[in-house]
Amino acid sequence: MKRVFNFSAGPSVLPQSVLERAASEMLNYHDTGQSVMEMSHRSKAYDDIIRGSEDKLRELMGIPDNFSVLFLQGGASLQFCMLVLNLKRRGRAAYIDTGVWSQKAIQEAQRWLEVDVLASSKDRNYSYIPQIDSVAGDYDYVHITQNNTIMGTKWASVPDTGSLPLVSDISSCILSEPIDIERYGLLYAGGQKNLAPAGVTVVIIRNDLIREDLPSDIASMLRYDTHAKNGSMYNTPPTYSIYVMGLVLDWIKANGGAQGMLKRNQSKAKLLYDYLDASSYYHSPVDAYSRSLMNIPFLLRSENSDKVSVLNKKFVSEAAAAGLVNLGGHRSIGGMRASIYNAMPIEGVEALIRFMDVFAKENPL
Ligand SMILES: *Cc1c(COP(=O)(O)O)cnc(C)c1O
Repeated sequence: MKRVFNFSAGPSVLPQSVLERAASEMLNYHDTGQSVMEMSHRSKAYDDIIRGSEDKLRELMGIPDNFSVLFLQGGASLQFCMLVLNLKRRGRAAYIDTGVWSQKAIQEAQRWLEVDVLASSKDRNYSYIPQIDSVAGDYDYVHITQNNTIMGTKWASVPDTGSLPLVSDISSCILSEPIDIERYGLLYAGGQKNLAPAGVTVVIIRNDLIREDLPSDIASMLRYDTHAKNGSMYNTPPTYSIYVMGLVLDWIKANGGAQGMLKRNQSKAKLLYDYLDASSYYHSPVDAYSRSLMNIPFLLRSENSDKVSVLNKKFVSEAAAAGLVNLGGHRSIGGMRASIYNAMPIEGVEALIRFMDVFAKENPL
């Protein structure tokens, strides 16, 4: 069977060696005679798996001892709510609006507190990251979306928030490059972009932000202290996703860790951005200094919207037929989008560019 190059924004491509390993361990994990899927989460074998995944994540991301790592469920979307309930004190927070996911985070936060949107790139359809060097004020926290999966932007450097906790949604860039955890109070990521199959959400939180004196009407499952005290085993964790995450982390380690991922991702992204910038057929809608390494939208250079919409559809379907799948752009931006997460090999990007070249020649604008 031939595998495709999968450019999906998420759930997304996993390293082939990880899938092979998971397959080889499917029926009998390490002589337990069981699949990890069938295992009690209270068993010794599973305890080794979940603690192993945490240890590897700590090592690869350089997570200091004064931070807790939680493996939760509910996706990044539940964190839009949970972080508010847990970090709210005085009742005001600062958000920076860089696209769809920031907006969702803002809308959710507004249920419980007053949100100051300090800056927004909505004026140019989120094609850049606003320049914000520092934030101060009477805020419980400051929230950013580190990599904007839909618009294809990322923060080149994050604002200095002094003593205010910086909270960042790193769903689509976790472990794509080194990150200085100490600059943040809380980081969160749905696993299904760069880390694991869907089901697990990673929360990395500075311990002094895990409060035990929360209002009593906050459900146990929505309190970080519940999960921190119980090693992410207050209830049944997403056992299989956490296991596959461990395999992905082994793969990242074997490929040079976060620094190795950065080099790999830079060379893939450069190939595609250089091609787009030199093309008279395609272009990137994103300002050069804000470009994502992970999600790369591209549009056709034509003002004829009827023609563009026909050609976009043709591109996506012919690419799929050629084994390059999930290249449709998000409806808010149109065109195409290639998500090239850690596990996308450079051969995938090379094949995409070859296809783009042929398509441009066969379909003049
Ligand atoms: C995918 C994504 C989300 C939503 O994640 P879920 O796990 O589906 O809730 C939130 N933020 C960003 C940046 C994303 O890429």
